[in-house]
Amino acid sequence: MKIRRGLVLLILLGLCAAVMSGCGGGPAAPSLTVKPGSEDVVITPISVDIKESGDPAVDRTGGPSVTPVPGGDTQTDGHAGPTPVVDPTQPLAGLVICVDAGHQDTGICEKEACAPWGPDANSKVNNTVMKAKATSGTSGVSTKKPEYQVNLEIALKLRDALEAKGATVVMSRTDNSSRLSNRDRALMANEKNCVLTFNIHCNGSDNQSVSGIELYVRGEGDNTSEYAARSKNEAELGQKLLDKLAAGTGAKKRSVNKSDSYTGINWRDHTTFIIECGFMSNPEEDVNLSTPEYQDKLVNAIVKFTVEDFK
Ligand SMILES: [Zn+2]
Repeated sequence: MKIRRGLVLLILLGLCAAVMSGCGGGPAAPSLTVKPGSEDVVITPISVDIKESGDPAVDRTGGPSVTPVPGGDTQTDGHAGPTPVVDPTQPLAGLVICVDAGHQDTGICEKEACAPWGPDANSKVNNTVMKAKATSGTSGVSTKKPEYQVNLEIALKLRDALEAKGATVVMSRTDNSSRLSNRDRALMANEKNCVLTFNIHCNGSDNQSVSGIELYVRGEGDNTSEYAARSKNEAELGQKLLDKLAAGTGAKKRSVNKSDSYTGINWRDHTTFIIECGFMSNPEEDVNLSTPEYQDKLVNAIVKFTVEDFK
């Protein structure tokens, strides 16, 4: 019995260590004062050298096997019922868009390859860089709400608004209990022929006065000219999206940042924006982000961009 009790204690201690290790939602390891809630990230403003994630753990045994999500899964497509009928006269008819609500209630500490390209591509990020499969994000300084919940609230509103304009929307999750990794979410969007992904996140900072909206788009990738063209295009489109988000919400307009550090961008074969909707570490902005009216402003700006600038 004593041995058994000892074992139970060891297991409990192990669980605590896992929860406190960071992939379950603990603080990220930023290189600057700002701590974006998306994945475990680094701030890389455009035209500044791209840096790797602060995560020192590198697994050189190769990435885990890819597990594409089968099509038609009702947990991930956002609709338990029949597919909505698309009105061809709607402005976004024919457009397949992924809405990816960042994070989930439980992180997945296992690691996966951050990018599909290999070490021979002379890239700063290659498929030997491993990151946690999923994290649970930041939380609100005022509301105490977890980021994954706020992200989901905004994402569900965005789904409805895009569908109202005729788009076909693929949701990476519609509740908080998703167990899909960041790479699996990206592969699912690719498989479903999405041409655009909005990856919804909220931000965090050590400095409570920091506020505003910022975006992340793809960076240098595999160093090919094709990838550079995609990056340039997404950065230009991102600026239009950011302009509309700032104008629509009145929030501070921060910047569009290129990065090679995001699994959720690197594995997607289409235009992808990580939208950091605001800072949950800022007391006022945290409250705004949970307010339905403010969420509507964010959503309306994203839809306006999609109608006017993307299609
Ligand atoms: Zn996040």
